[in-house]
Amino acid sequence: MQSRDLARKIIWSAIYLLFILAPLFALLAGTLPPARNFGTEFSVALGYSGLAMMGLQFGLTARFRHVTEPWGEDVIYHFHRRVSLLAVSLVVAHPLILFAIRSDKVAMPDSLREVPWGAWFAFLSIGSVIVLVITALWRKQLKIPYELWHLSHIGLALVAIFGGVLHMIGWGFYLTDPLKRTLWICMTAFWIALLLYVRLFKPIFMLRRPYRIAEVRAERGDTTTLVMQPDGHAGFRFKPGQFGWLNVWGSPFRITGHPFSFSSSAEAENGRVEMTIRNLGDFTSKVKLIEAGQRVYLDGPYGAFTIGHPTDMHVLIAGGIGITPMMSMIRTLADRGDQRPLVLLYGGKTWDSLTFREELDALKTRLDLRIIYVLSAPPEGWSGETGRIDAAMFRRHLPPAFAEHEYFICGPDPMMDAIETALGEMKVPRMRYHSERYSFV
Ligand SMILES: Cc1cc2nc3c(=O)[nH]c(=O)nc-3n(C[C@H](O)[C@H](O)[C@H](O)COP(=O)(O)OP(=O)(O)OC[C@H]3O[C@@H](n4cnc5c(N)ncnc54)[C@H](O)[C@@H]3O)c2cc1C
Repeated sequence: MQSRDLARKIIWSAIYLLFILAPLFALLAGTLPPARNFGTEFSVALGYSGLAMMGLQFGLTARFRHVTEPWGEDVIYHFHRRVSLLAVSLVVAHPLILFAIRSDKVAMPDSLREVPWGAWFAFLSIGSVIVLVITALWRKQLKIPYELWHLSHIGLALVAIFGGVLHMIGWGFYLTDPLKRTLWICMTAFWIALLLYVRLFKPIFMLRRPYRIAEVRAERGDTTTLVMQPDGHAGFRFKPGQFGWLNVWGSPFRITGHPFSFSSSAEAENGRVEMTIRNLGDFTSKVKLIEAGQRVYLDGPYGAFTIGHPTDMHVLIAGGIGITPMMSMIRTLADRGDQRPLVLLYGGKTWDSLTFREELDALKTRLDLRIIYVLSAPPEGWSGETGRIDAAMFRRHLPPAFAEHEYFICGPDPMMDAIETALGEMKVPRMRYHSERYSFV
């Protein structure tokens, strides 16, 4: 399984590099315009590569399951963010180098009317790229609501790309050759097709495969479980630990779906799925108001966070609502009669806020499951673990072949960072632990 994933990673990485570099090399094929100085050619190469990278960002966020599976969706989103910074640096470096070498290409004309139209598109493209990066990096500080940000993010990306391509065509030089110009126009059409795939074709597919809310269940810890039943179709199968995108109000064409792990058993019948959602913001605060019978749309399953090798001890480490994928794993293993050893370290604030507490205790009779509750605000007389889950706590509760267990971590970012550090200290190899981060953005 791991070598298959490695092979898929290599193949997809090679395809990604091909899409970035091939258009650049294609410019050097066929008839070439007379060479200019090194600084100019270098800056132009940066501009072309930056634009190709920006266009392919639509592919990274297009939710192609086969592409994202070997890494996991969260890794792809983090890569998307990093690559954006690189792409934007290349695009911005392009005019900066021309200014630095005092190229006549960036000499200011006497009047605005003399500015060539290709240059206007360059301003438009670079301007929107800069706004795009600022709003992505500092969305929370700028207090931009998520949905508004998401919509403007797509809009700005489109303006940046169209502006960039029109600038290249307007400027001519390498793209005076009709073949090369066609190549870049086709590439742009391909990038837009990627966007249409996720924003138009996928929603059409979801529209034809709706779900109905069968039950809305209040859970401990200001949390609600939605039980969903496919309406007129068989639904999909998921692996325990995976997640889906949920659209409740409005159509599946609505720009922002919300990601939630499946909390139910993957063995549930008739395509039934459950998501367990904690009240943490605008959307999640309204979930408890949803009524049975409501039509919803689900896009999934996604993610690589799922149970591992059957002979390994599975150490499940959950913080707060990070219990949901673990619950799906535990329920699934119980339904399958799987007796692999499981240790759940479950951190929460108070005893009363621990979602699924009673069911977890009951499941111990059906599984080889040990549970260690860790409270940050324990009740009086509490004799269990308190504070943060750390290396010392692992040493107290796990058998010492630490590097041989498989670890699954899901919880708030600071907790996940601390646990990954603790596992590093315990010499657990990176490939033995799996993380699901609830913060794509
Ligand atoms: C893979 C994954 C699985 C998740 N599973 C669960 C789960 O099982 N149960 C649960 O309660 N929560 C889960 N979450 C978190 C959940 O998606 C967010 O809490 C929820 O989307 C917040 O929406 P809001 O409008 O209520 O909050 P807001 O106050 O609007 O946003 C709070 C923060 O949540 C993030 N967020 C908001 N909307 C989205 C969105 N559409 N897509 C991505 N991030 C968003 C943003 O960082 C935002 O700053 C999961 C997140 C991810 C990435």
